[in-house]
Amino acid sequence: MIRINEHYAKLQAGYLFVEVARRIREYEETHPDASIIKLGIGDVTLPLPPAIVSAFEDAVREMGAADTFRGYGPEQGYEFLRKPIAERDYRSHGMDIAADEIFISDGAKNDVGNVQELFAPDIQVAVQDPVYPVYVDTNVMAGRTGPAREGRYEGLTYLHSGFQNGFVPDPPEEAADLIYLCFPNNPTGSVATHEQLARWVDYARRNKALILFDAAYVAFIRDEGLPRSIFEIEGAREVAIEFRSFSKDAGFTGTRCAFTVIPKDVTAYDSAGMAHKVHPLWNRRHSTKFNGVSYPVQRAAAAVYSEAGTRETRELADFYLENARIIREGLDTIGLSYTGGTNSPYIWAHGGGRDSWELFDMLLNEASVVTTPGAGFGRGGDGFIRISAFNSRENVEEAMTRIAKSLG
Ligand SMILES: *Cc1c(COP(=O)(O)O)cnc(C)c1O
Repeated sequence: MIRINEHYAKLQAGYLFVEVARRIREYEETHPDASIIKLGIGDVTLPLPPAIVSAFEDAVREMGAADTFRGYGPEQGYEFLRKPIAERDYRSHGMDIAADEIFISDGAKNDVGNVQELFAPDIQVAVQDPVYPVYVDTNVMAGRTGPAREGRYEGLTYLHSGFQNGFVPDPPEEAADLIYLCFPNNPTGSVATHEQLARWVDYARRNKALILFDAAYVAFIRDEGLPRSIFEIEGAREVAIEFRSFSKDAGFTGTRCAFTVIPKDVTAYDSAGMAHKVHPLWNRRHSTKFNGVSYPVQRAAAAVYSEAGTRETRELADFYLENARIIREGLDTIGLSYTGGTNSPYIWAHGGGRDSWELFDMLLNEASVVTTPGAGFGRGGDGFIRISAFNSRENVEEAMTRIAKSLG
């Protein structure tokens, strides 16, 4: 008899987006003339920049000619992409990362979701709350939690983030083995400082723990004083894995390319306490279950590191950051408190005592603006909404004008 993985039954339904869609539909039915602006989206809106499109096109033509056609490439990715990543994202910033410590993939979501399978089923997992749901759900599927009660899974360590800690939690008192950190953070837009990350690296070294550092939004960091990688922290090479993506940095959400950095020093232990390197484990997994990212897509990603590509992708992030500034200015005018929106495309707004859904409904009904209720990112998100800067300038300006008019 074929039986299911019963851990899947513990997963909380994708309630958030279903409920958001239901409320939008209801509003549309009762307000047929309203033009709704969606500032709830976690997806980019600008097209791929020209330097990237051109490299993409050239590579597609190579695939169509007999003398330049390519079949399977290396599972870990082509050197022409791994090398500039190591050089431009790490070595030129003083970080000791080699090209063969970089694994190219078709998404940070899948890498960050898959990596947990290298580790034992009974390790202690810690996540930020509010949290990007992938970290939690993949551990639920793997059986590392009990059932959910009042929005939290039993057995997980939740690191509360709020105004009091600037949405950057400190290491907990208790021991955790696998720690998911995301900076710039989705959903709160917070960014950890060197000192804060150093406390985590120190904690991981003392506890023989591992940090999974999701840096999918690194392109939005403009403050030179903020760390752009966990590997800027001394000692991180033994205790951290970093995930990056071309999705938000270069508009690749529909093109699909990302990478995971696993230094050869990263160590995990067996039940007898013997040390094992994680790099060969991931290499084994990656080459067993994955056959590489398509050649044209890797060429397109490599173009991000060309002179024109660097400039054009920076302009993409600049555009969204200006949207974020307009949103912050709008919230300042109406006196709604928030965090994020600098060094991040997300603004995390506080409802001043209203719960997430009240705030969501208020903006939908008074201004025809859709946001994301913070409660969807965990218990720690209640009372907040996430506002996204991924939209056209016109829509962002119009949305903030409407919000100011109805709530100001
Ligand atoms: C968008 C996003 C990613 C990127 O995922 P891809 O699969 O590379 O598109 C990773 N982590 C977080 C927190 C994100 O919001």
